[in-house]
Amino acid sequence: MARTTNENGGGGANVTPMMAQYHALKAEAQDCLLFYRMGDFFELFFDDAKIASACLDIALTSRGDGVPMCGVPAHSAEGYLARLIKAGHRVAIADQTETPAEAKKRGGSKALVGRAIVRVVTAGTLTEEALLDARAANWLVALAEAGGQIGLAAADISTGRFELAAIPAGSLDAELARLGAAETIAADGFAFAPADAISQDPRAFDSTAGEARLKALFGVATLDSFGGFGRAELAAAAGLLAYLDRAGQGKLPFLQPPARRHPADHMLIDAATRDSLELTQAQGGGRKGSLLDAVDRTVTGAGARMLAADIGAPLAERLVIEARLDLVTRFVDDGGLRESIRTNLKAAPDIGRAIGRLVAGRGSPRDLGLLRDGLDEAHGLHERLLRLGDRPALLDQLLPQMRGHGALIDLLTRALVPQPPIDTAQGGYIAEGYDPALDDLRGQGGEGRRAIAALEARYREATGITSLKIRHNGVLGYHIEVQAKHADPLMRPESGFTHRQTLAGVVRFNAPDLHEQALRVGQAGAHALAAEAAHLEELVAAALACKTAIAATADALARLDVAAGLAERAIEGHWCRPAFAEEPCFEVEGGRHPVVEAAVTATGERFVANDCQLLPDRRLWLVTGPNMGGKSTFLRQNALIAVLAQAGGYVPAASARLGLVDRLFSRVGASDNLARGRSTFMVEMVETAAILAQATERSLVILDEVGRGTSTYDGLAIAWAVVEAVHDINRCRCLFATHYHELTRLAERLDALSLHHVRAREWKGDLVLLHELADGPADRSYGIAVAKLAGLPPAVLGRAQSVLAKLESGRAATGGIAAGLDDLPLFAAAAAAPPPPVDPLREALDAILPDALSPRDALDALYRLKTLAEG
Ligand code: ADP
Repeated sequence: MARTTNENGGGGANVTPMMAQYHALKAEAQDCLLFYRMGDFFELFFDDAKIASACLDIALTSRGDGVPMCGVPAHSAEGYLARLIKAGHRVAIADQTETPAEAKKRGGSKALVGRAIVRVVTAGTLTEEALLDARAANWLVALAEAGGQIGLAAADISTGRFELAAIPAGSLDAELARLGAAETIAADGFAFAPADAISQDPRAFDSTAGEARLKALFGVATLDSFGGFGRAELAAAAGLLAYLDRAGQGKLPFLQPPARRHPADHMLIDAATRDSLELTQAQGGGRKGSLLDAVDRTVTGAGARMLAADIGAPLAERLVIEARLDLVTRFVDDGGLRESIRTNLKAAPDIGRAIGRLVAGRGSPRDLGLLRDGLDEAHGLHERLLRLGDRPALLDQLLPQMRGHGALIDLLTRALVPQPPIDTAQGGYIAEGYDPALDDLRGQGGEGRRAIAALEARYREATGITSLKIRHNGVLGYHIEVQAKHADPLMRPESGFTHRQTLAGVVRFNAPDLHEQALRVGQAGAHALAAEAAHLEELVAAALACKTAIAATADALARLDVAAGLAERAIEGHWCRPAFAEEPCFEVEGGRHPVVEAAVTATGERFVANDCQLLPDRRLWLVTGPNMGGKSTFLRQNALIAVLAQAGGYVPAASARLGLVDRLFSRVGASDNLARGRSTFMVEMVETAAILAQATERSLVILDEVGRGTSTYDGLAIAWAVVEAVHDINRCRCLFATHYHELTRLAERLDALSLHHVRAREWKGDLVLLHELADGPADRSYGIAVAKLAGLPPAVLGRAQSVLAKLESGRAATGGIAAGLDDLPLFAAAAAAPPPPVDPLREALDAILPDALSPRDALDALYRLKTLAEG
């Protein structure tokens, strides 16, 4: 591999033409790392080299003039790119736009090879199969503000999905959390930009330009048919398209017509709730241990991506949910149908991503092969499903999306070999019989190769060297090879052979008739390659002409996969179809937590199913009981049931009757979050504040040990006030788990609050956790019994027991830490109490920072304070 080229890269203090070219390209690349193509390598220089060498763990060297550099082989650049992108970098690729030979022809022997940035690779603009997760979407999100609204544009260019939405500031967090973007961009100065957003020139976010761009892109005179977008959405779209333009250097990737999203179409779930419920990602990162992982029985990448999107954005409209459920029910009821559909889908390639690569100009014959097979599979499924009687409405909607590709399938079937390659350099992907001229060229090549094989025998006979061989390599082409000891006779001028090369043990020759045949093979081969390339171009064009319809087919297949997969999961786990009610109720019988259940049953234990019954006049459940008793599990399983039901799936329960949830909140008391390394109590309070501000009567809130991140008195006080506020002000459905036994006193005053506990029993001095929910408060906390269960030494346990006895006798005497709480005014009255009066003297004192004062300032301050005190 040639690491150096004959370009004049060195040159001390003088800036060589090559370095001038490098600097110009680097200026264009801005804050991206620049991959600068030199021969078979991409080189990085200066700080880029330092960053890349550290990130990729490759040697940092330096050029003659001391400039730091490192490089990666071009043929394996993808792997290195993947690591840089994963580490949060963006990379501009400057490739050679001509060969060294072309450069010489153009500008003489010293000419510099032309280079240009051909692409900018960023986390949100990937289409390479190797760099993408087949089972996850890859969103690029652009945010803008116009006319007092926030616009959000999101594109997954690996499949062409494209969404626009106008978002109230309060829902932005939830929307961003839903998308989990690989990359977010925002206009410089945009007030609500998330911390990791990449700032862009605000001029790129121009709504008028955005509108014009969209119209041109989709060839329409008005955008009304897509949903009539507002200024903010158009501005975000403008920013997104400008960014994609730059990434593709003018070549726009695949975008389907934009779909308009209304945040109100979905259950809103903010980032903290997603994390806490582990919807699509477990807290340790990764999919394992998440709800998605426990539910996913899809058999295709596209199905898995759609299920992740569904679970990440449960629906808020009953009709749409029921339509999805009807399809699932059909697959539940008809096992044979489900099985056969899943078998067919398993065999279907990922046509969504194949068309994405083709549109991005990075498609290969293999992608066309995938389209052919995938579309053919879709066609077969269509025929099969069409014969089905009594079809669910959603299926009737999907069926038309699955057909209509007959001509394209036919073309690709005729044109391509059964397993087309990714690499086009060797040709051989166009099928025989598709183009007689190509077949003819291949025939000539074949004849030539046969003639060459015949020559070998002839030469052996003529020279008497039985070990003589005709070989081929990239440098010499066809040549004759003999062992060195046989070479002498062939060296003679009259032998008819021309010497080409002497190596350690062998000598290589050419001969006129071999040359002639080789020329024939070479020419036929080159012509055949050119003919194949021309066909490839036509075939790609034919596929691209149908790109939107192909994307729709991909979506339809994914929807079938999701529904059949959910049905499969339901059967496997004896799940039930949820029913929906108008009033905000939440009635679950025999509910289970799919992730914990799997973990518990894996250890041979039995998972205990529990009921939950929230009704408008009994909408707040306070759950007490020992640690490890199953409180968190119970809370979460109900939140997960709400998510699954509104995503259009069956739920892990014997029966479920739910009023639709508009927003879902889940918060866990601080100490459970320690692993996440944040200022935990602060986070807990910020998150609790968000719930109190946002939860409506149709929301579902689960609060797990809120208040435990601080001292007992503070914690109890906060938990107390939060329960009151949720009950009186938000009036949402709420499950509240706590170890503050004192909170149970609230039941006396809050009508819609009821008490429940997870059961435990002490048996022969040991604690038995039953994981079973029962009415009423827990009789005691069992803390020491839990500690024993955890293996605390007997001496420590004994000591704890005597400390507890002392504390409890103290409590009996004073009424405990909740003594006096009965006299508190109700929440509404207390909240309306006037704020304490302002004390100017105290404020002035607070404002003084003694460390920052000189003695003179201190004296002045003292005088001021005295004057204030005198009023
Ligand atoms: P808590 O919140 O009360 O401390 P958790 O909900 O975290 O308790 O549950 C502790 C453990 O108990 C879980 O990890 C699980 O192993 C087990 N568990 C919880 N709920 C159940 C259940 N319903 N059936 C069986 N085991 C359960």
